[in-house]
Amino acid sequence: MTNLHTKVLILGSGPAGLTAAIYAARANLSPILVAGMQPGGQMTITTDVENYPGFAKTIQGPWLMEQMQAQAEHVGARFMQDTIVSADLSRRPFVLTADSGDTYTADSLIVATGAQARWLGLDSEKKFQGFGVSACATCDGFFFKGKTVAVIGGGNTAVEESLFLAQMADKVTLIHRRDSLRAEKILQDRMRNHPKIEVLWNHAVEEIVGSDNPPSVTGLKLKNTKTGAPGNLAIDGLFIAIGHTPNAELFKGQLDLDAEGYIVTRPGSTETNIPGVFAAGDVQDKIFRQAVTAAGTGCMSALEADKFLAHHAQVRSVAAE
Ligand code: FAD
Ligand code: NAP
Repeated sequence: MTNLHTKVLILGSGPAGLTAAIYAARANLSPILVAGMQPGGQMTITTDVENYPGFAKTIQGPWLMEQMQAQAEHVGARFMQDTIVSADLSRRPFVLTADSGDTYTADSLIVATGAQARWLGLDSEKKFQGFGVSACATCDGFFFKGKTVAVIGGGNTAVEESLFLAQMADKVTLIHRRDSLRAEKILQDRMRNHPKIEVLWNHAVEEIVGSDNPPSVTGLKLKNTKTGAPGNLAIDGLFIAIGHTPNAELFKGQLDLDAEGYIVTRPGSTETNIPGVFAAGDVQDKIFRQAVTAAGTGCMSALEADKFLAHHAQVRSVAAE
């Protein structure tokens, strides 16, 4: 078991963590990045990416993340294939322990541990993920221009995604397991008045069906949650919008979290309630949840960590005089 000390410890190897690593390394802070159980983050579970700026042609999510990691390593960031299991932010330097048993001490910490889309948990859902099944309409809606899609869920996200998809798809069916929505009334009204959106109440998805070569979705096997009656629906794409879980549980009781478990940051900043601890990307953003916004806040967090460290070095040298 070893202990590594660093000026900047970054948790997470998604767009937020990798961008923070690039900026921190280029500020000569020699950052250590702990990659976690999903190296590359959520973008590694998608295929085509068309909205990350800088690429005229469609790129692949896993390739983009390989490039970001190579760039971070090229400028001097150090990568550890570890997952942090506990953190003590009451001491300075901060002490974090990984599942390998190694400990990391850090003068500043950037939490970029992301969030996970909740999935239905069906085998067929896994099979077609990235091939017609998505958890992000903003990311993948464009691929369903003129097609028929379904959205699962009954909250604000499901209704917003249905409205967004209706701008390009020919038909959108919102499938909800109950007979009333949680979504705000104003969104419900907008959806009800939309000619392309239909709601299928009291239904749950039993299986996603499609063809294998190339993988593509052709329909759903459904079950009425009240009567148990089976049903079918022909679709080209399925969007799961049943919520996200931020990966911030580890910091409960130390960092301020909101009611849904997202890390609270000062508006316009990545600062948390603990000086020297910054949060970037989806772990602190329940609204935009995009690679480019995660990268943007990753950049902010490294610049803010640099400023924090410089300020503290100055305070220490004044105190020593
Ligand atoms: P994440 O990408 O979620 O990365 C989190 C990182 O934290 C991971 O590396 C994980 O291993 C690590 N981690 C977690 N816990 C720990 C721990 N305890 N210790 C150490 N490390 C830890 N966005 C777009 O802009 N365009 C798209 O086309 C697009 N398509 C998408 C398709 C799908 C299917 C999904 C799910 C999302 C898509 N997104 C897209 C959204 C985008 O992937 C996210 O907004 C972005 O990845 C968030 O980046 P992040 O760095 O905050 O976190
Ligand atoms: P949410 O409010 O938790 O809603 C999740 C929905 O998914 C619920 O309707 C739930 O059904 C359904 N669901 C959960 N698990 C399911 C499963 N296994 N199978 C089928 N359906 C399932 O999540 P959200 O819509 O992502 O919103 C999260 C938070 O962000 C909320 O506070 C929301 O207000 C906020 N948000 C706000 C805006 C906005 O203000 N414009 C936009 C998006 C999100 P039940 O209803 O039956 O439980």
